[in-house]
Amino acid sequence: MLNLIIFGPPGAGKGTQSEKIIERYQLAHISTGDLLRAERNAGTELGNKANEFISKGELVPDEVVIGMVRNFMVSKSGVQGFIFDGFPRTIPQAEALDAMLMEFDTAISTVLGLEVVEDELVKRLMLRGQTSGRVDDQDEDTIRNRFREYQNKTLPLKDYYANQKKYQSVQGIGEIDEIFTNLCACIDAV
Ligand code: AMP
Repeated sequence: MLNLIIFGPPGAGKGTQSEKIIERYQLAHISTGDLLRAERNAGTELGNKANEFISKGELVPDEVVIGMVRNFMVSKSGVQGFIFDGFPRTIPQAEALDAMLMEFDTAISTVLGLEVVEDELVKRLMLRGQTSGRVDDQDEDTIRNRFREYQNKTLPLKDYYANQKKYQSVQGIGEIDEIFTNLCACIDAV
């Protein structure tokens, strides 16, 4: 199996690049942000609970997200691989993911880290907020909170995967197709 993590701060282009990678490599896409928003829109208990955190720009508790990912992976058994987008976002999530993949007799193949400076990210998110309808893209305080969460809880994953010799860094500013070409080179090198 080919199991990829697309990693980077909010607004780095993880969703955009995931769509292109899925098409080329025939992977199942797991975006925890999309799954949580779908739960919220369906008005489920999980969705309502998650929304309290999402609307403030805070991370949803690990156990909620890990359980949701596990259910999704089980429902997709038989696929050629997964691309994880927006997950894991904490060290406990990364440890749980390693354990879950081991149950499936597989592992993370590589982690693709999109590098984008913060000023560019704020610009992109404010712009996306005008069309995406996402409440967490529209308010600057919420956006700043998402960056704080990223710095404090998610960034340590870079070292976690670098220690496993799985982290590859890719420039996330430039033409979408050029970034995609660079990502493919990293995937093909695995
Ligand atoms: P995203 O669409 O990936 O930007 O996620 C939107 C929001 O959903 C985040 O700001 C978090 O509140 C929540 N979220 C998404 N993925 C996770 C995750 N792996 N762990 C915790 N919260 C998450």
